[in-house]
Amino acid sequence: MNSKKITHILLAAALAASLLAAASCSRANERIVEDSRFFMGTVVQIKVSIDPAKYSEARAKDAISKAFDEINRIEDVYSVYKDTSEISRINRLRKNERLQISDGVFNLVHKTLDYSERTSGAFDITVKPLVDLWERAKRTNKLPDEHEFKRALERVGYKNVALDETVRTIHFKKDGISIDLGGAAKGYATDRAIFILEENGIDNAIVNSGGDMYCLGKRTARELWKVGVQHPRDRNRLFLEIGLQDRAIDTSGDYERYFVIGGKRYSHIIDPRTGYPIGDSAVSASVIAADSTTADILATAMCVLGEKGFGIIKESGGIDAVLVMFEAGRLTAKMSEGIRKRYDISEEKL
Ligand code: AMP
Ligand code: MG
Repeated sequence: MNSKKITHILLAAALAASLLAAASCSRANERIVEDSRFFMGTVVQIKVSIDPAKYSEARAKDAISKAFDEINRIEDVYSVYKDTSEISRINRLRKNERLQISDGVFNLVHKTLDYSERTSGAFDITVKPLVDLWERAKRTNKLPDEHEFKRALERVGYKNVALDETVRTIHFKKDGISIDLGGAAKGYATDRAIFILEENGIDNAIVNSGGDMYCLGKRTARELWKVGVQHPRDRNRLFLEIGLQDRAIDTSGDYERYFVIGGKRYSHIIDPRTGYPIGDSAVSASVIAADSTTADILATAMCVLGEKGFGIIKESGGIDAVLVMFEAGRLTAKMSEGIRKRYDISEEKL
């Protein structure tokens, strides 16, 4: 199936789901206006809740369209798959060659480096050589040999990335370093889309970038936005439903983009410290935070860290996590302390 066809099917599915949701919820004065587009390899869905007496449907559509324009811009700047992106330009730098970068890229790289420190390197944007290595393994259906593996691992390490705050430049302290913001970019795009919606007078909205979600305000005066987290081994089932207000929830896991070689399942999330795709540490991790960028970063990090990641969640304050892992051969969910008191959670059996 070509990618255009897949796009159409995904859009149709997203549309059908949102129509169902909208039909069950249109009451009082609120009205849900929504649209979906294909960005960053996934369907991005935006729904806004408006009172038509105060804010017209046409204005809402215009605000949504501006938010999509921003996500489109972000994809152009941050994608490692586009030769012309700012990230690709950064990745062509040689040792100690400096490049002045936009504030957006500077701030996001800064934030990810900060989380690399906090997670002791479990989250690391310099993981790209390993991501490429395992992508090639997936394509050729052959595990990397020891020599290529060692070479890729030598080119990983966030401490080789340096930012200069005063002149807003980036440089690498070693040749062969490259960055990949794939573990944070969808969350960042979600935050930016929310920012644009707010700038256009929207107070209540939900942006869902393929599982990276932010809930702004409420769905109706009496109802929170309800978000579902997919069962990690059955895409037709939800395993959690959570009501959220002014909160982000992002989920990472081995269930969406995995591959199989020699009967063994490999995740698209790599442990930068070992060079291998994550193993038993996690099946999926969902993180609830005040912004979607942080939730995205920590969901990826939790997958690498597994249960040990709860320490960082606790230290961070105001952040919660749900980790699904195998324990004694059975899928088990572990939650951060007090999460049920803070949120309205309904849970299905795993
Ligand atoms: P996510 O789906 O948000 O968990 O992000 C996964 C993507 O982030 C992968 O496709 C890689 O591009 C990148 N990535 C993989 N492992 C890591 C890691 N340990 N730290 C940071 N980024 C990673
Ligand atoms: Mg992530």
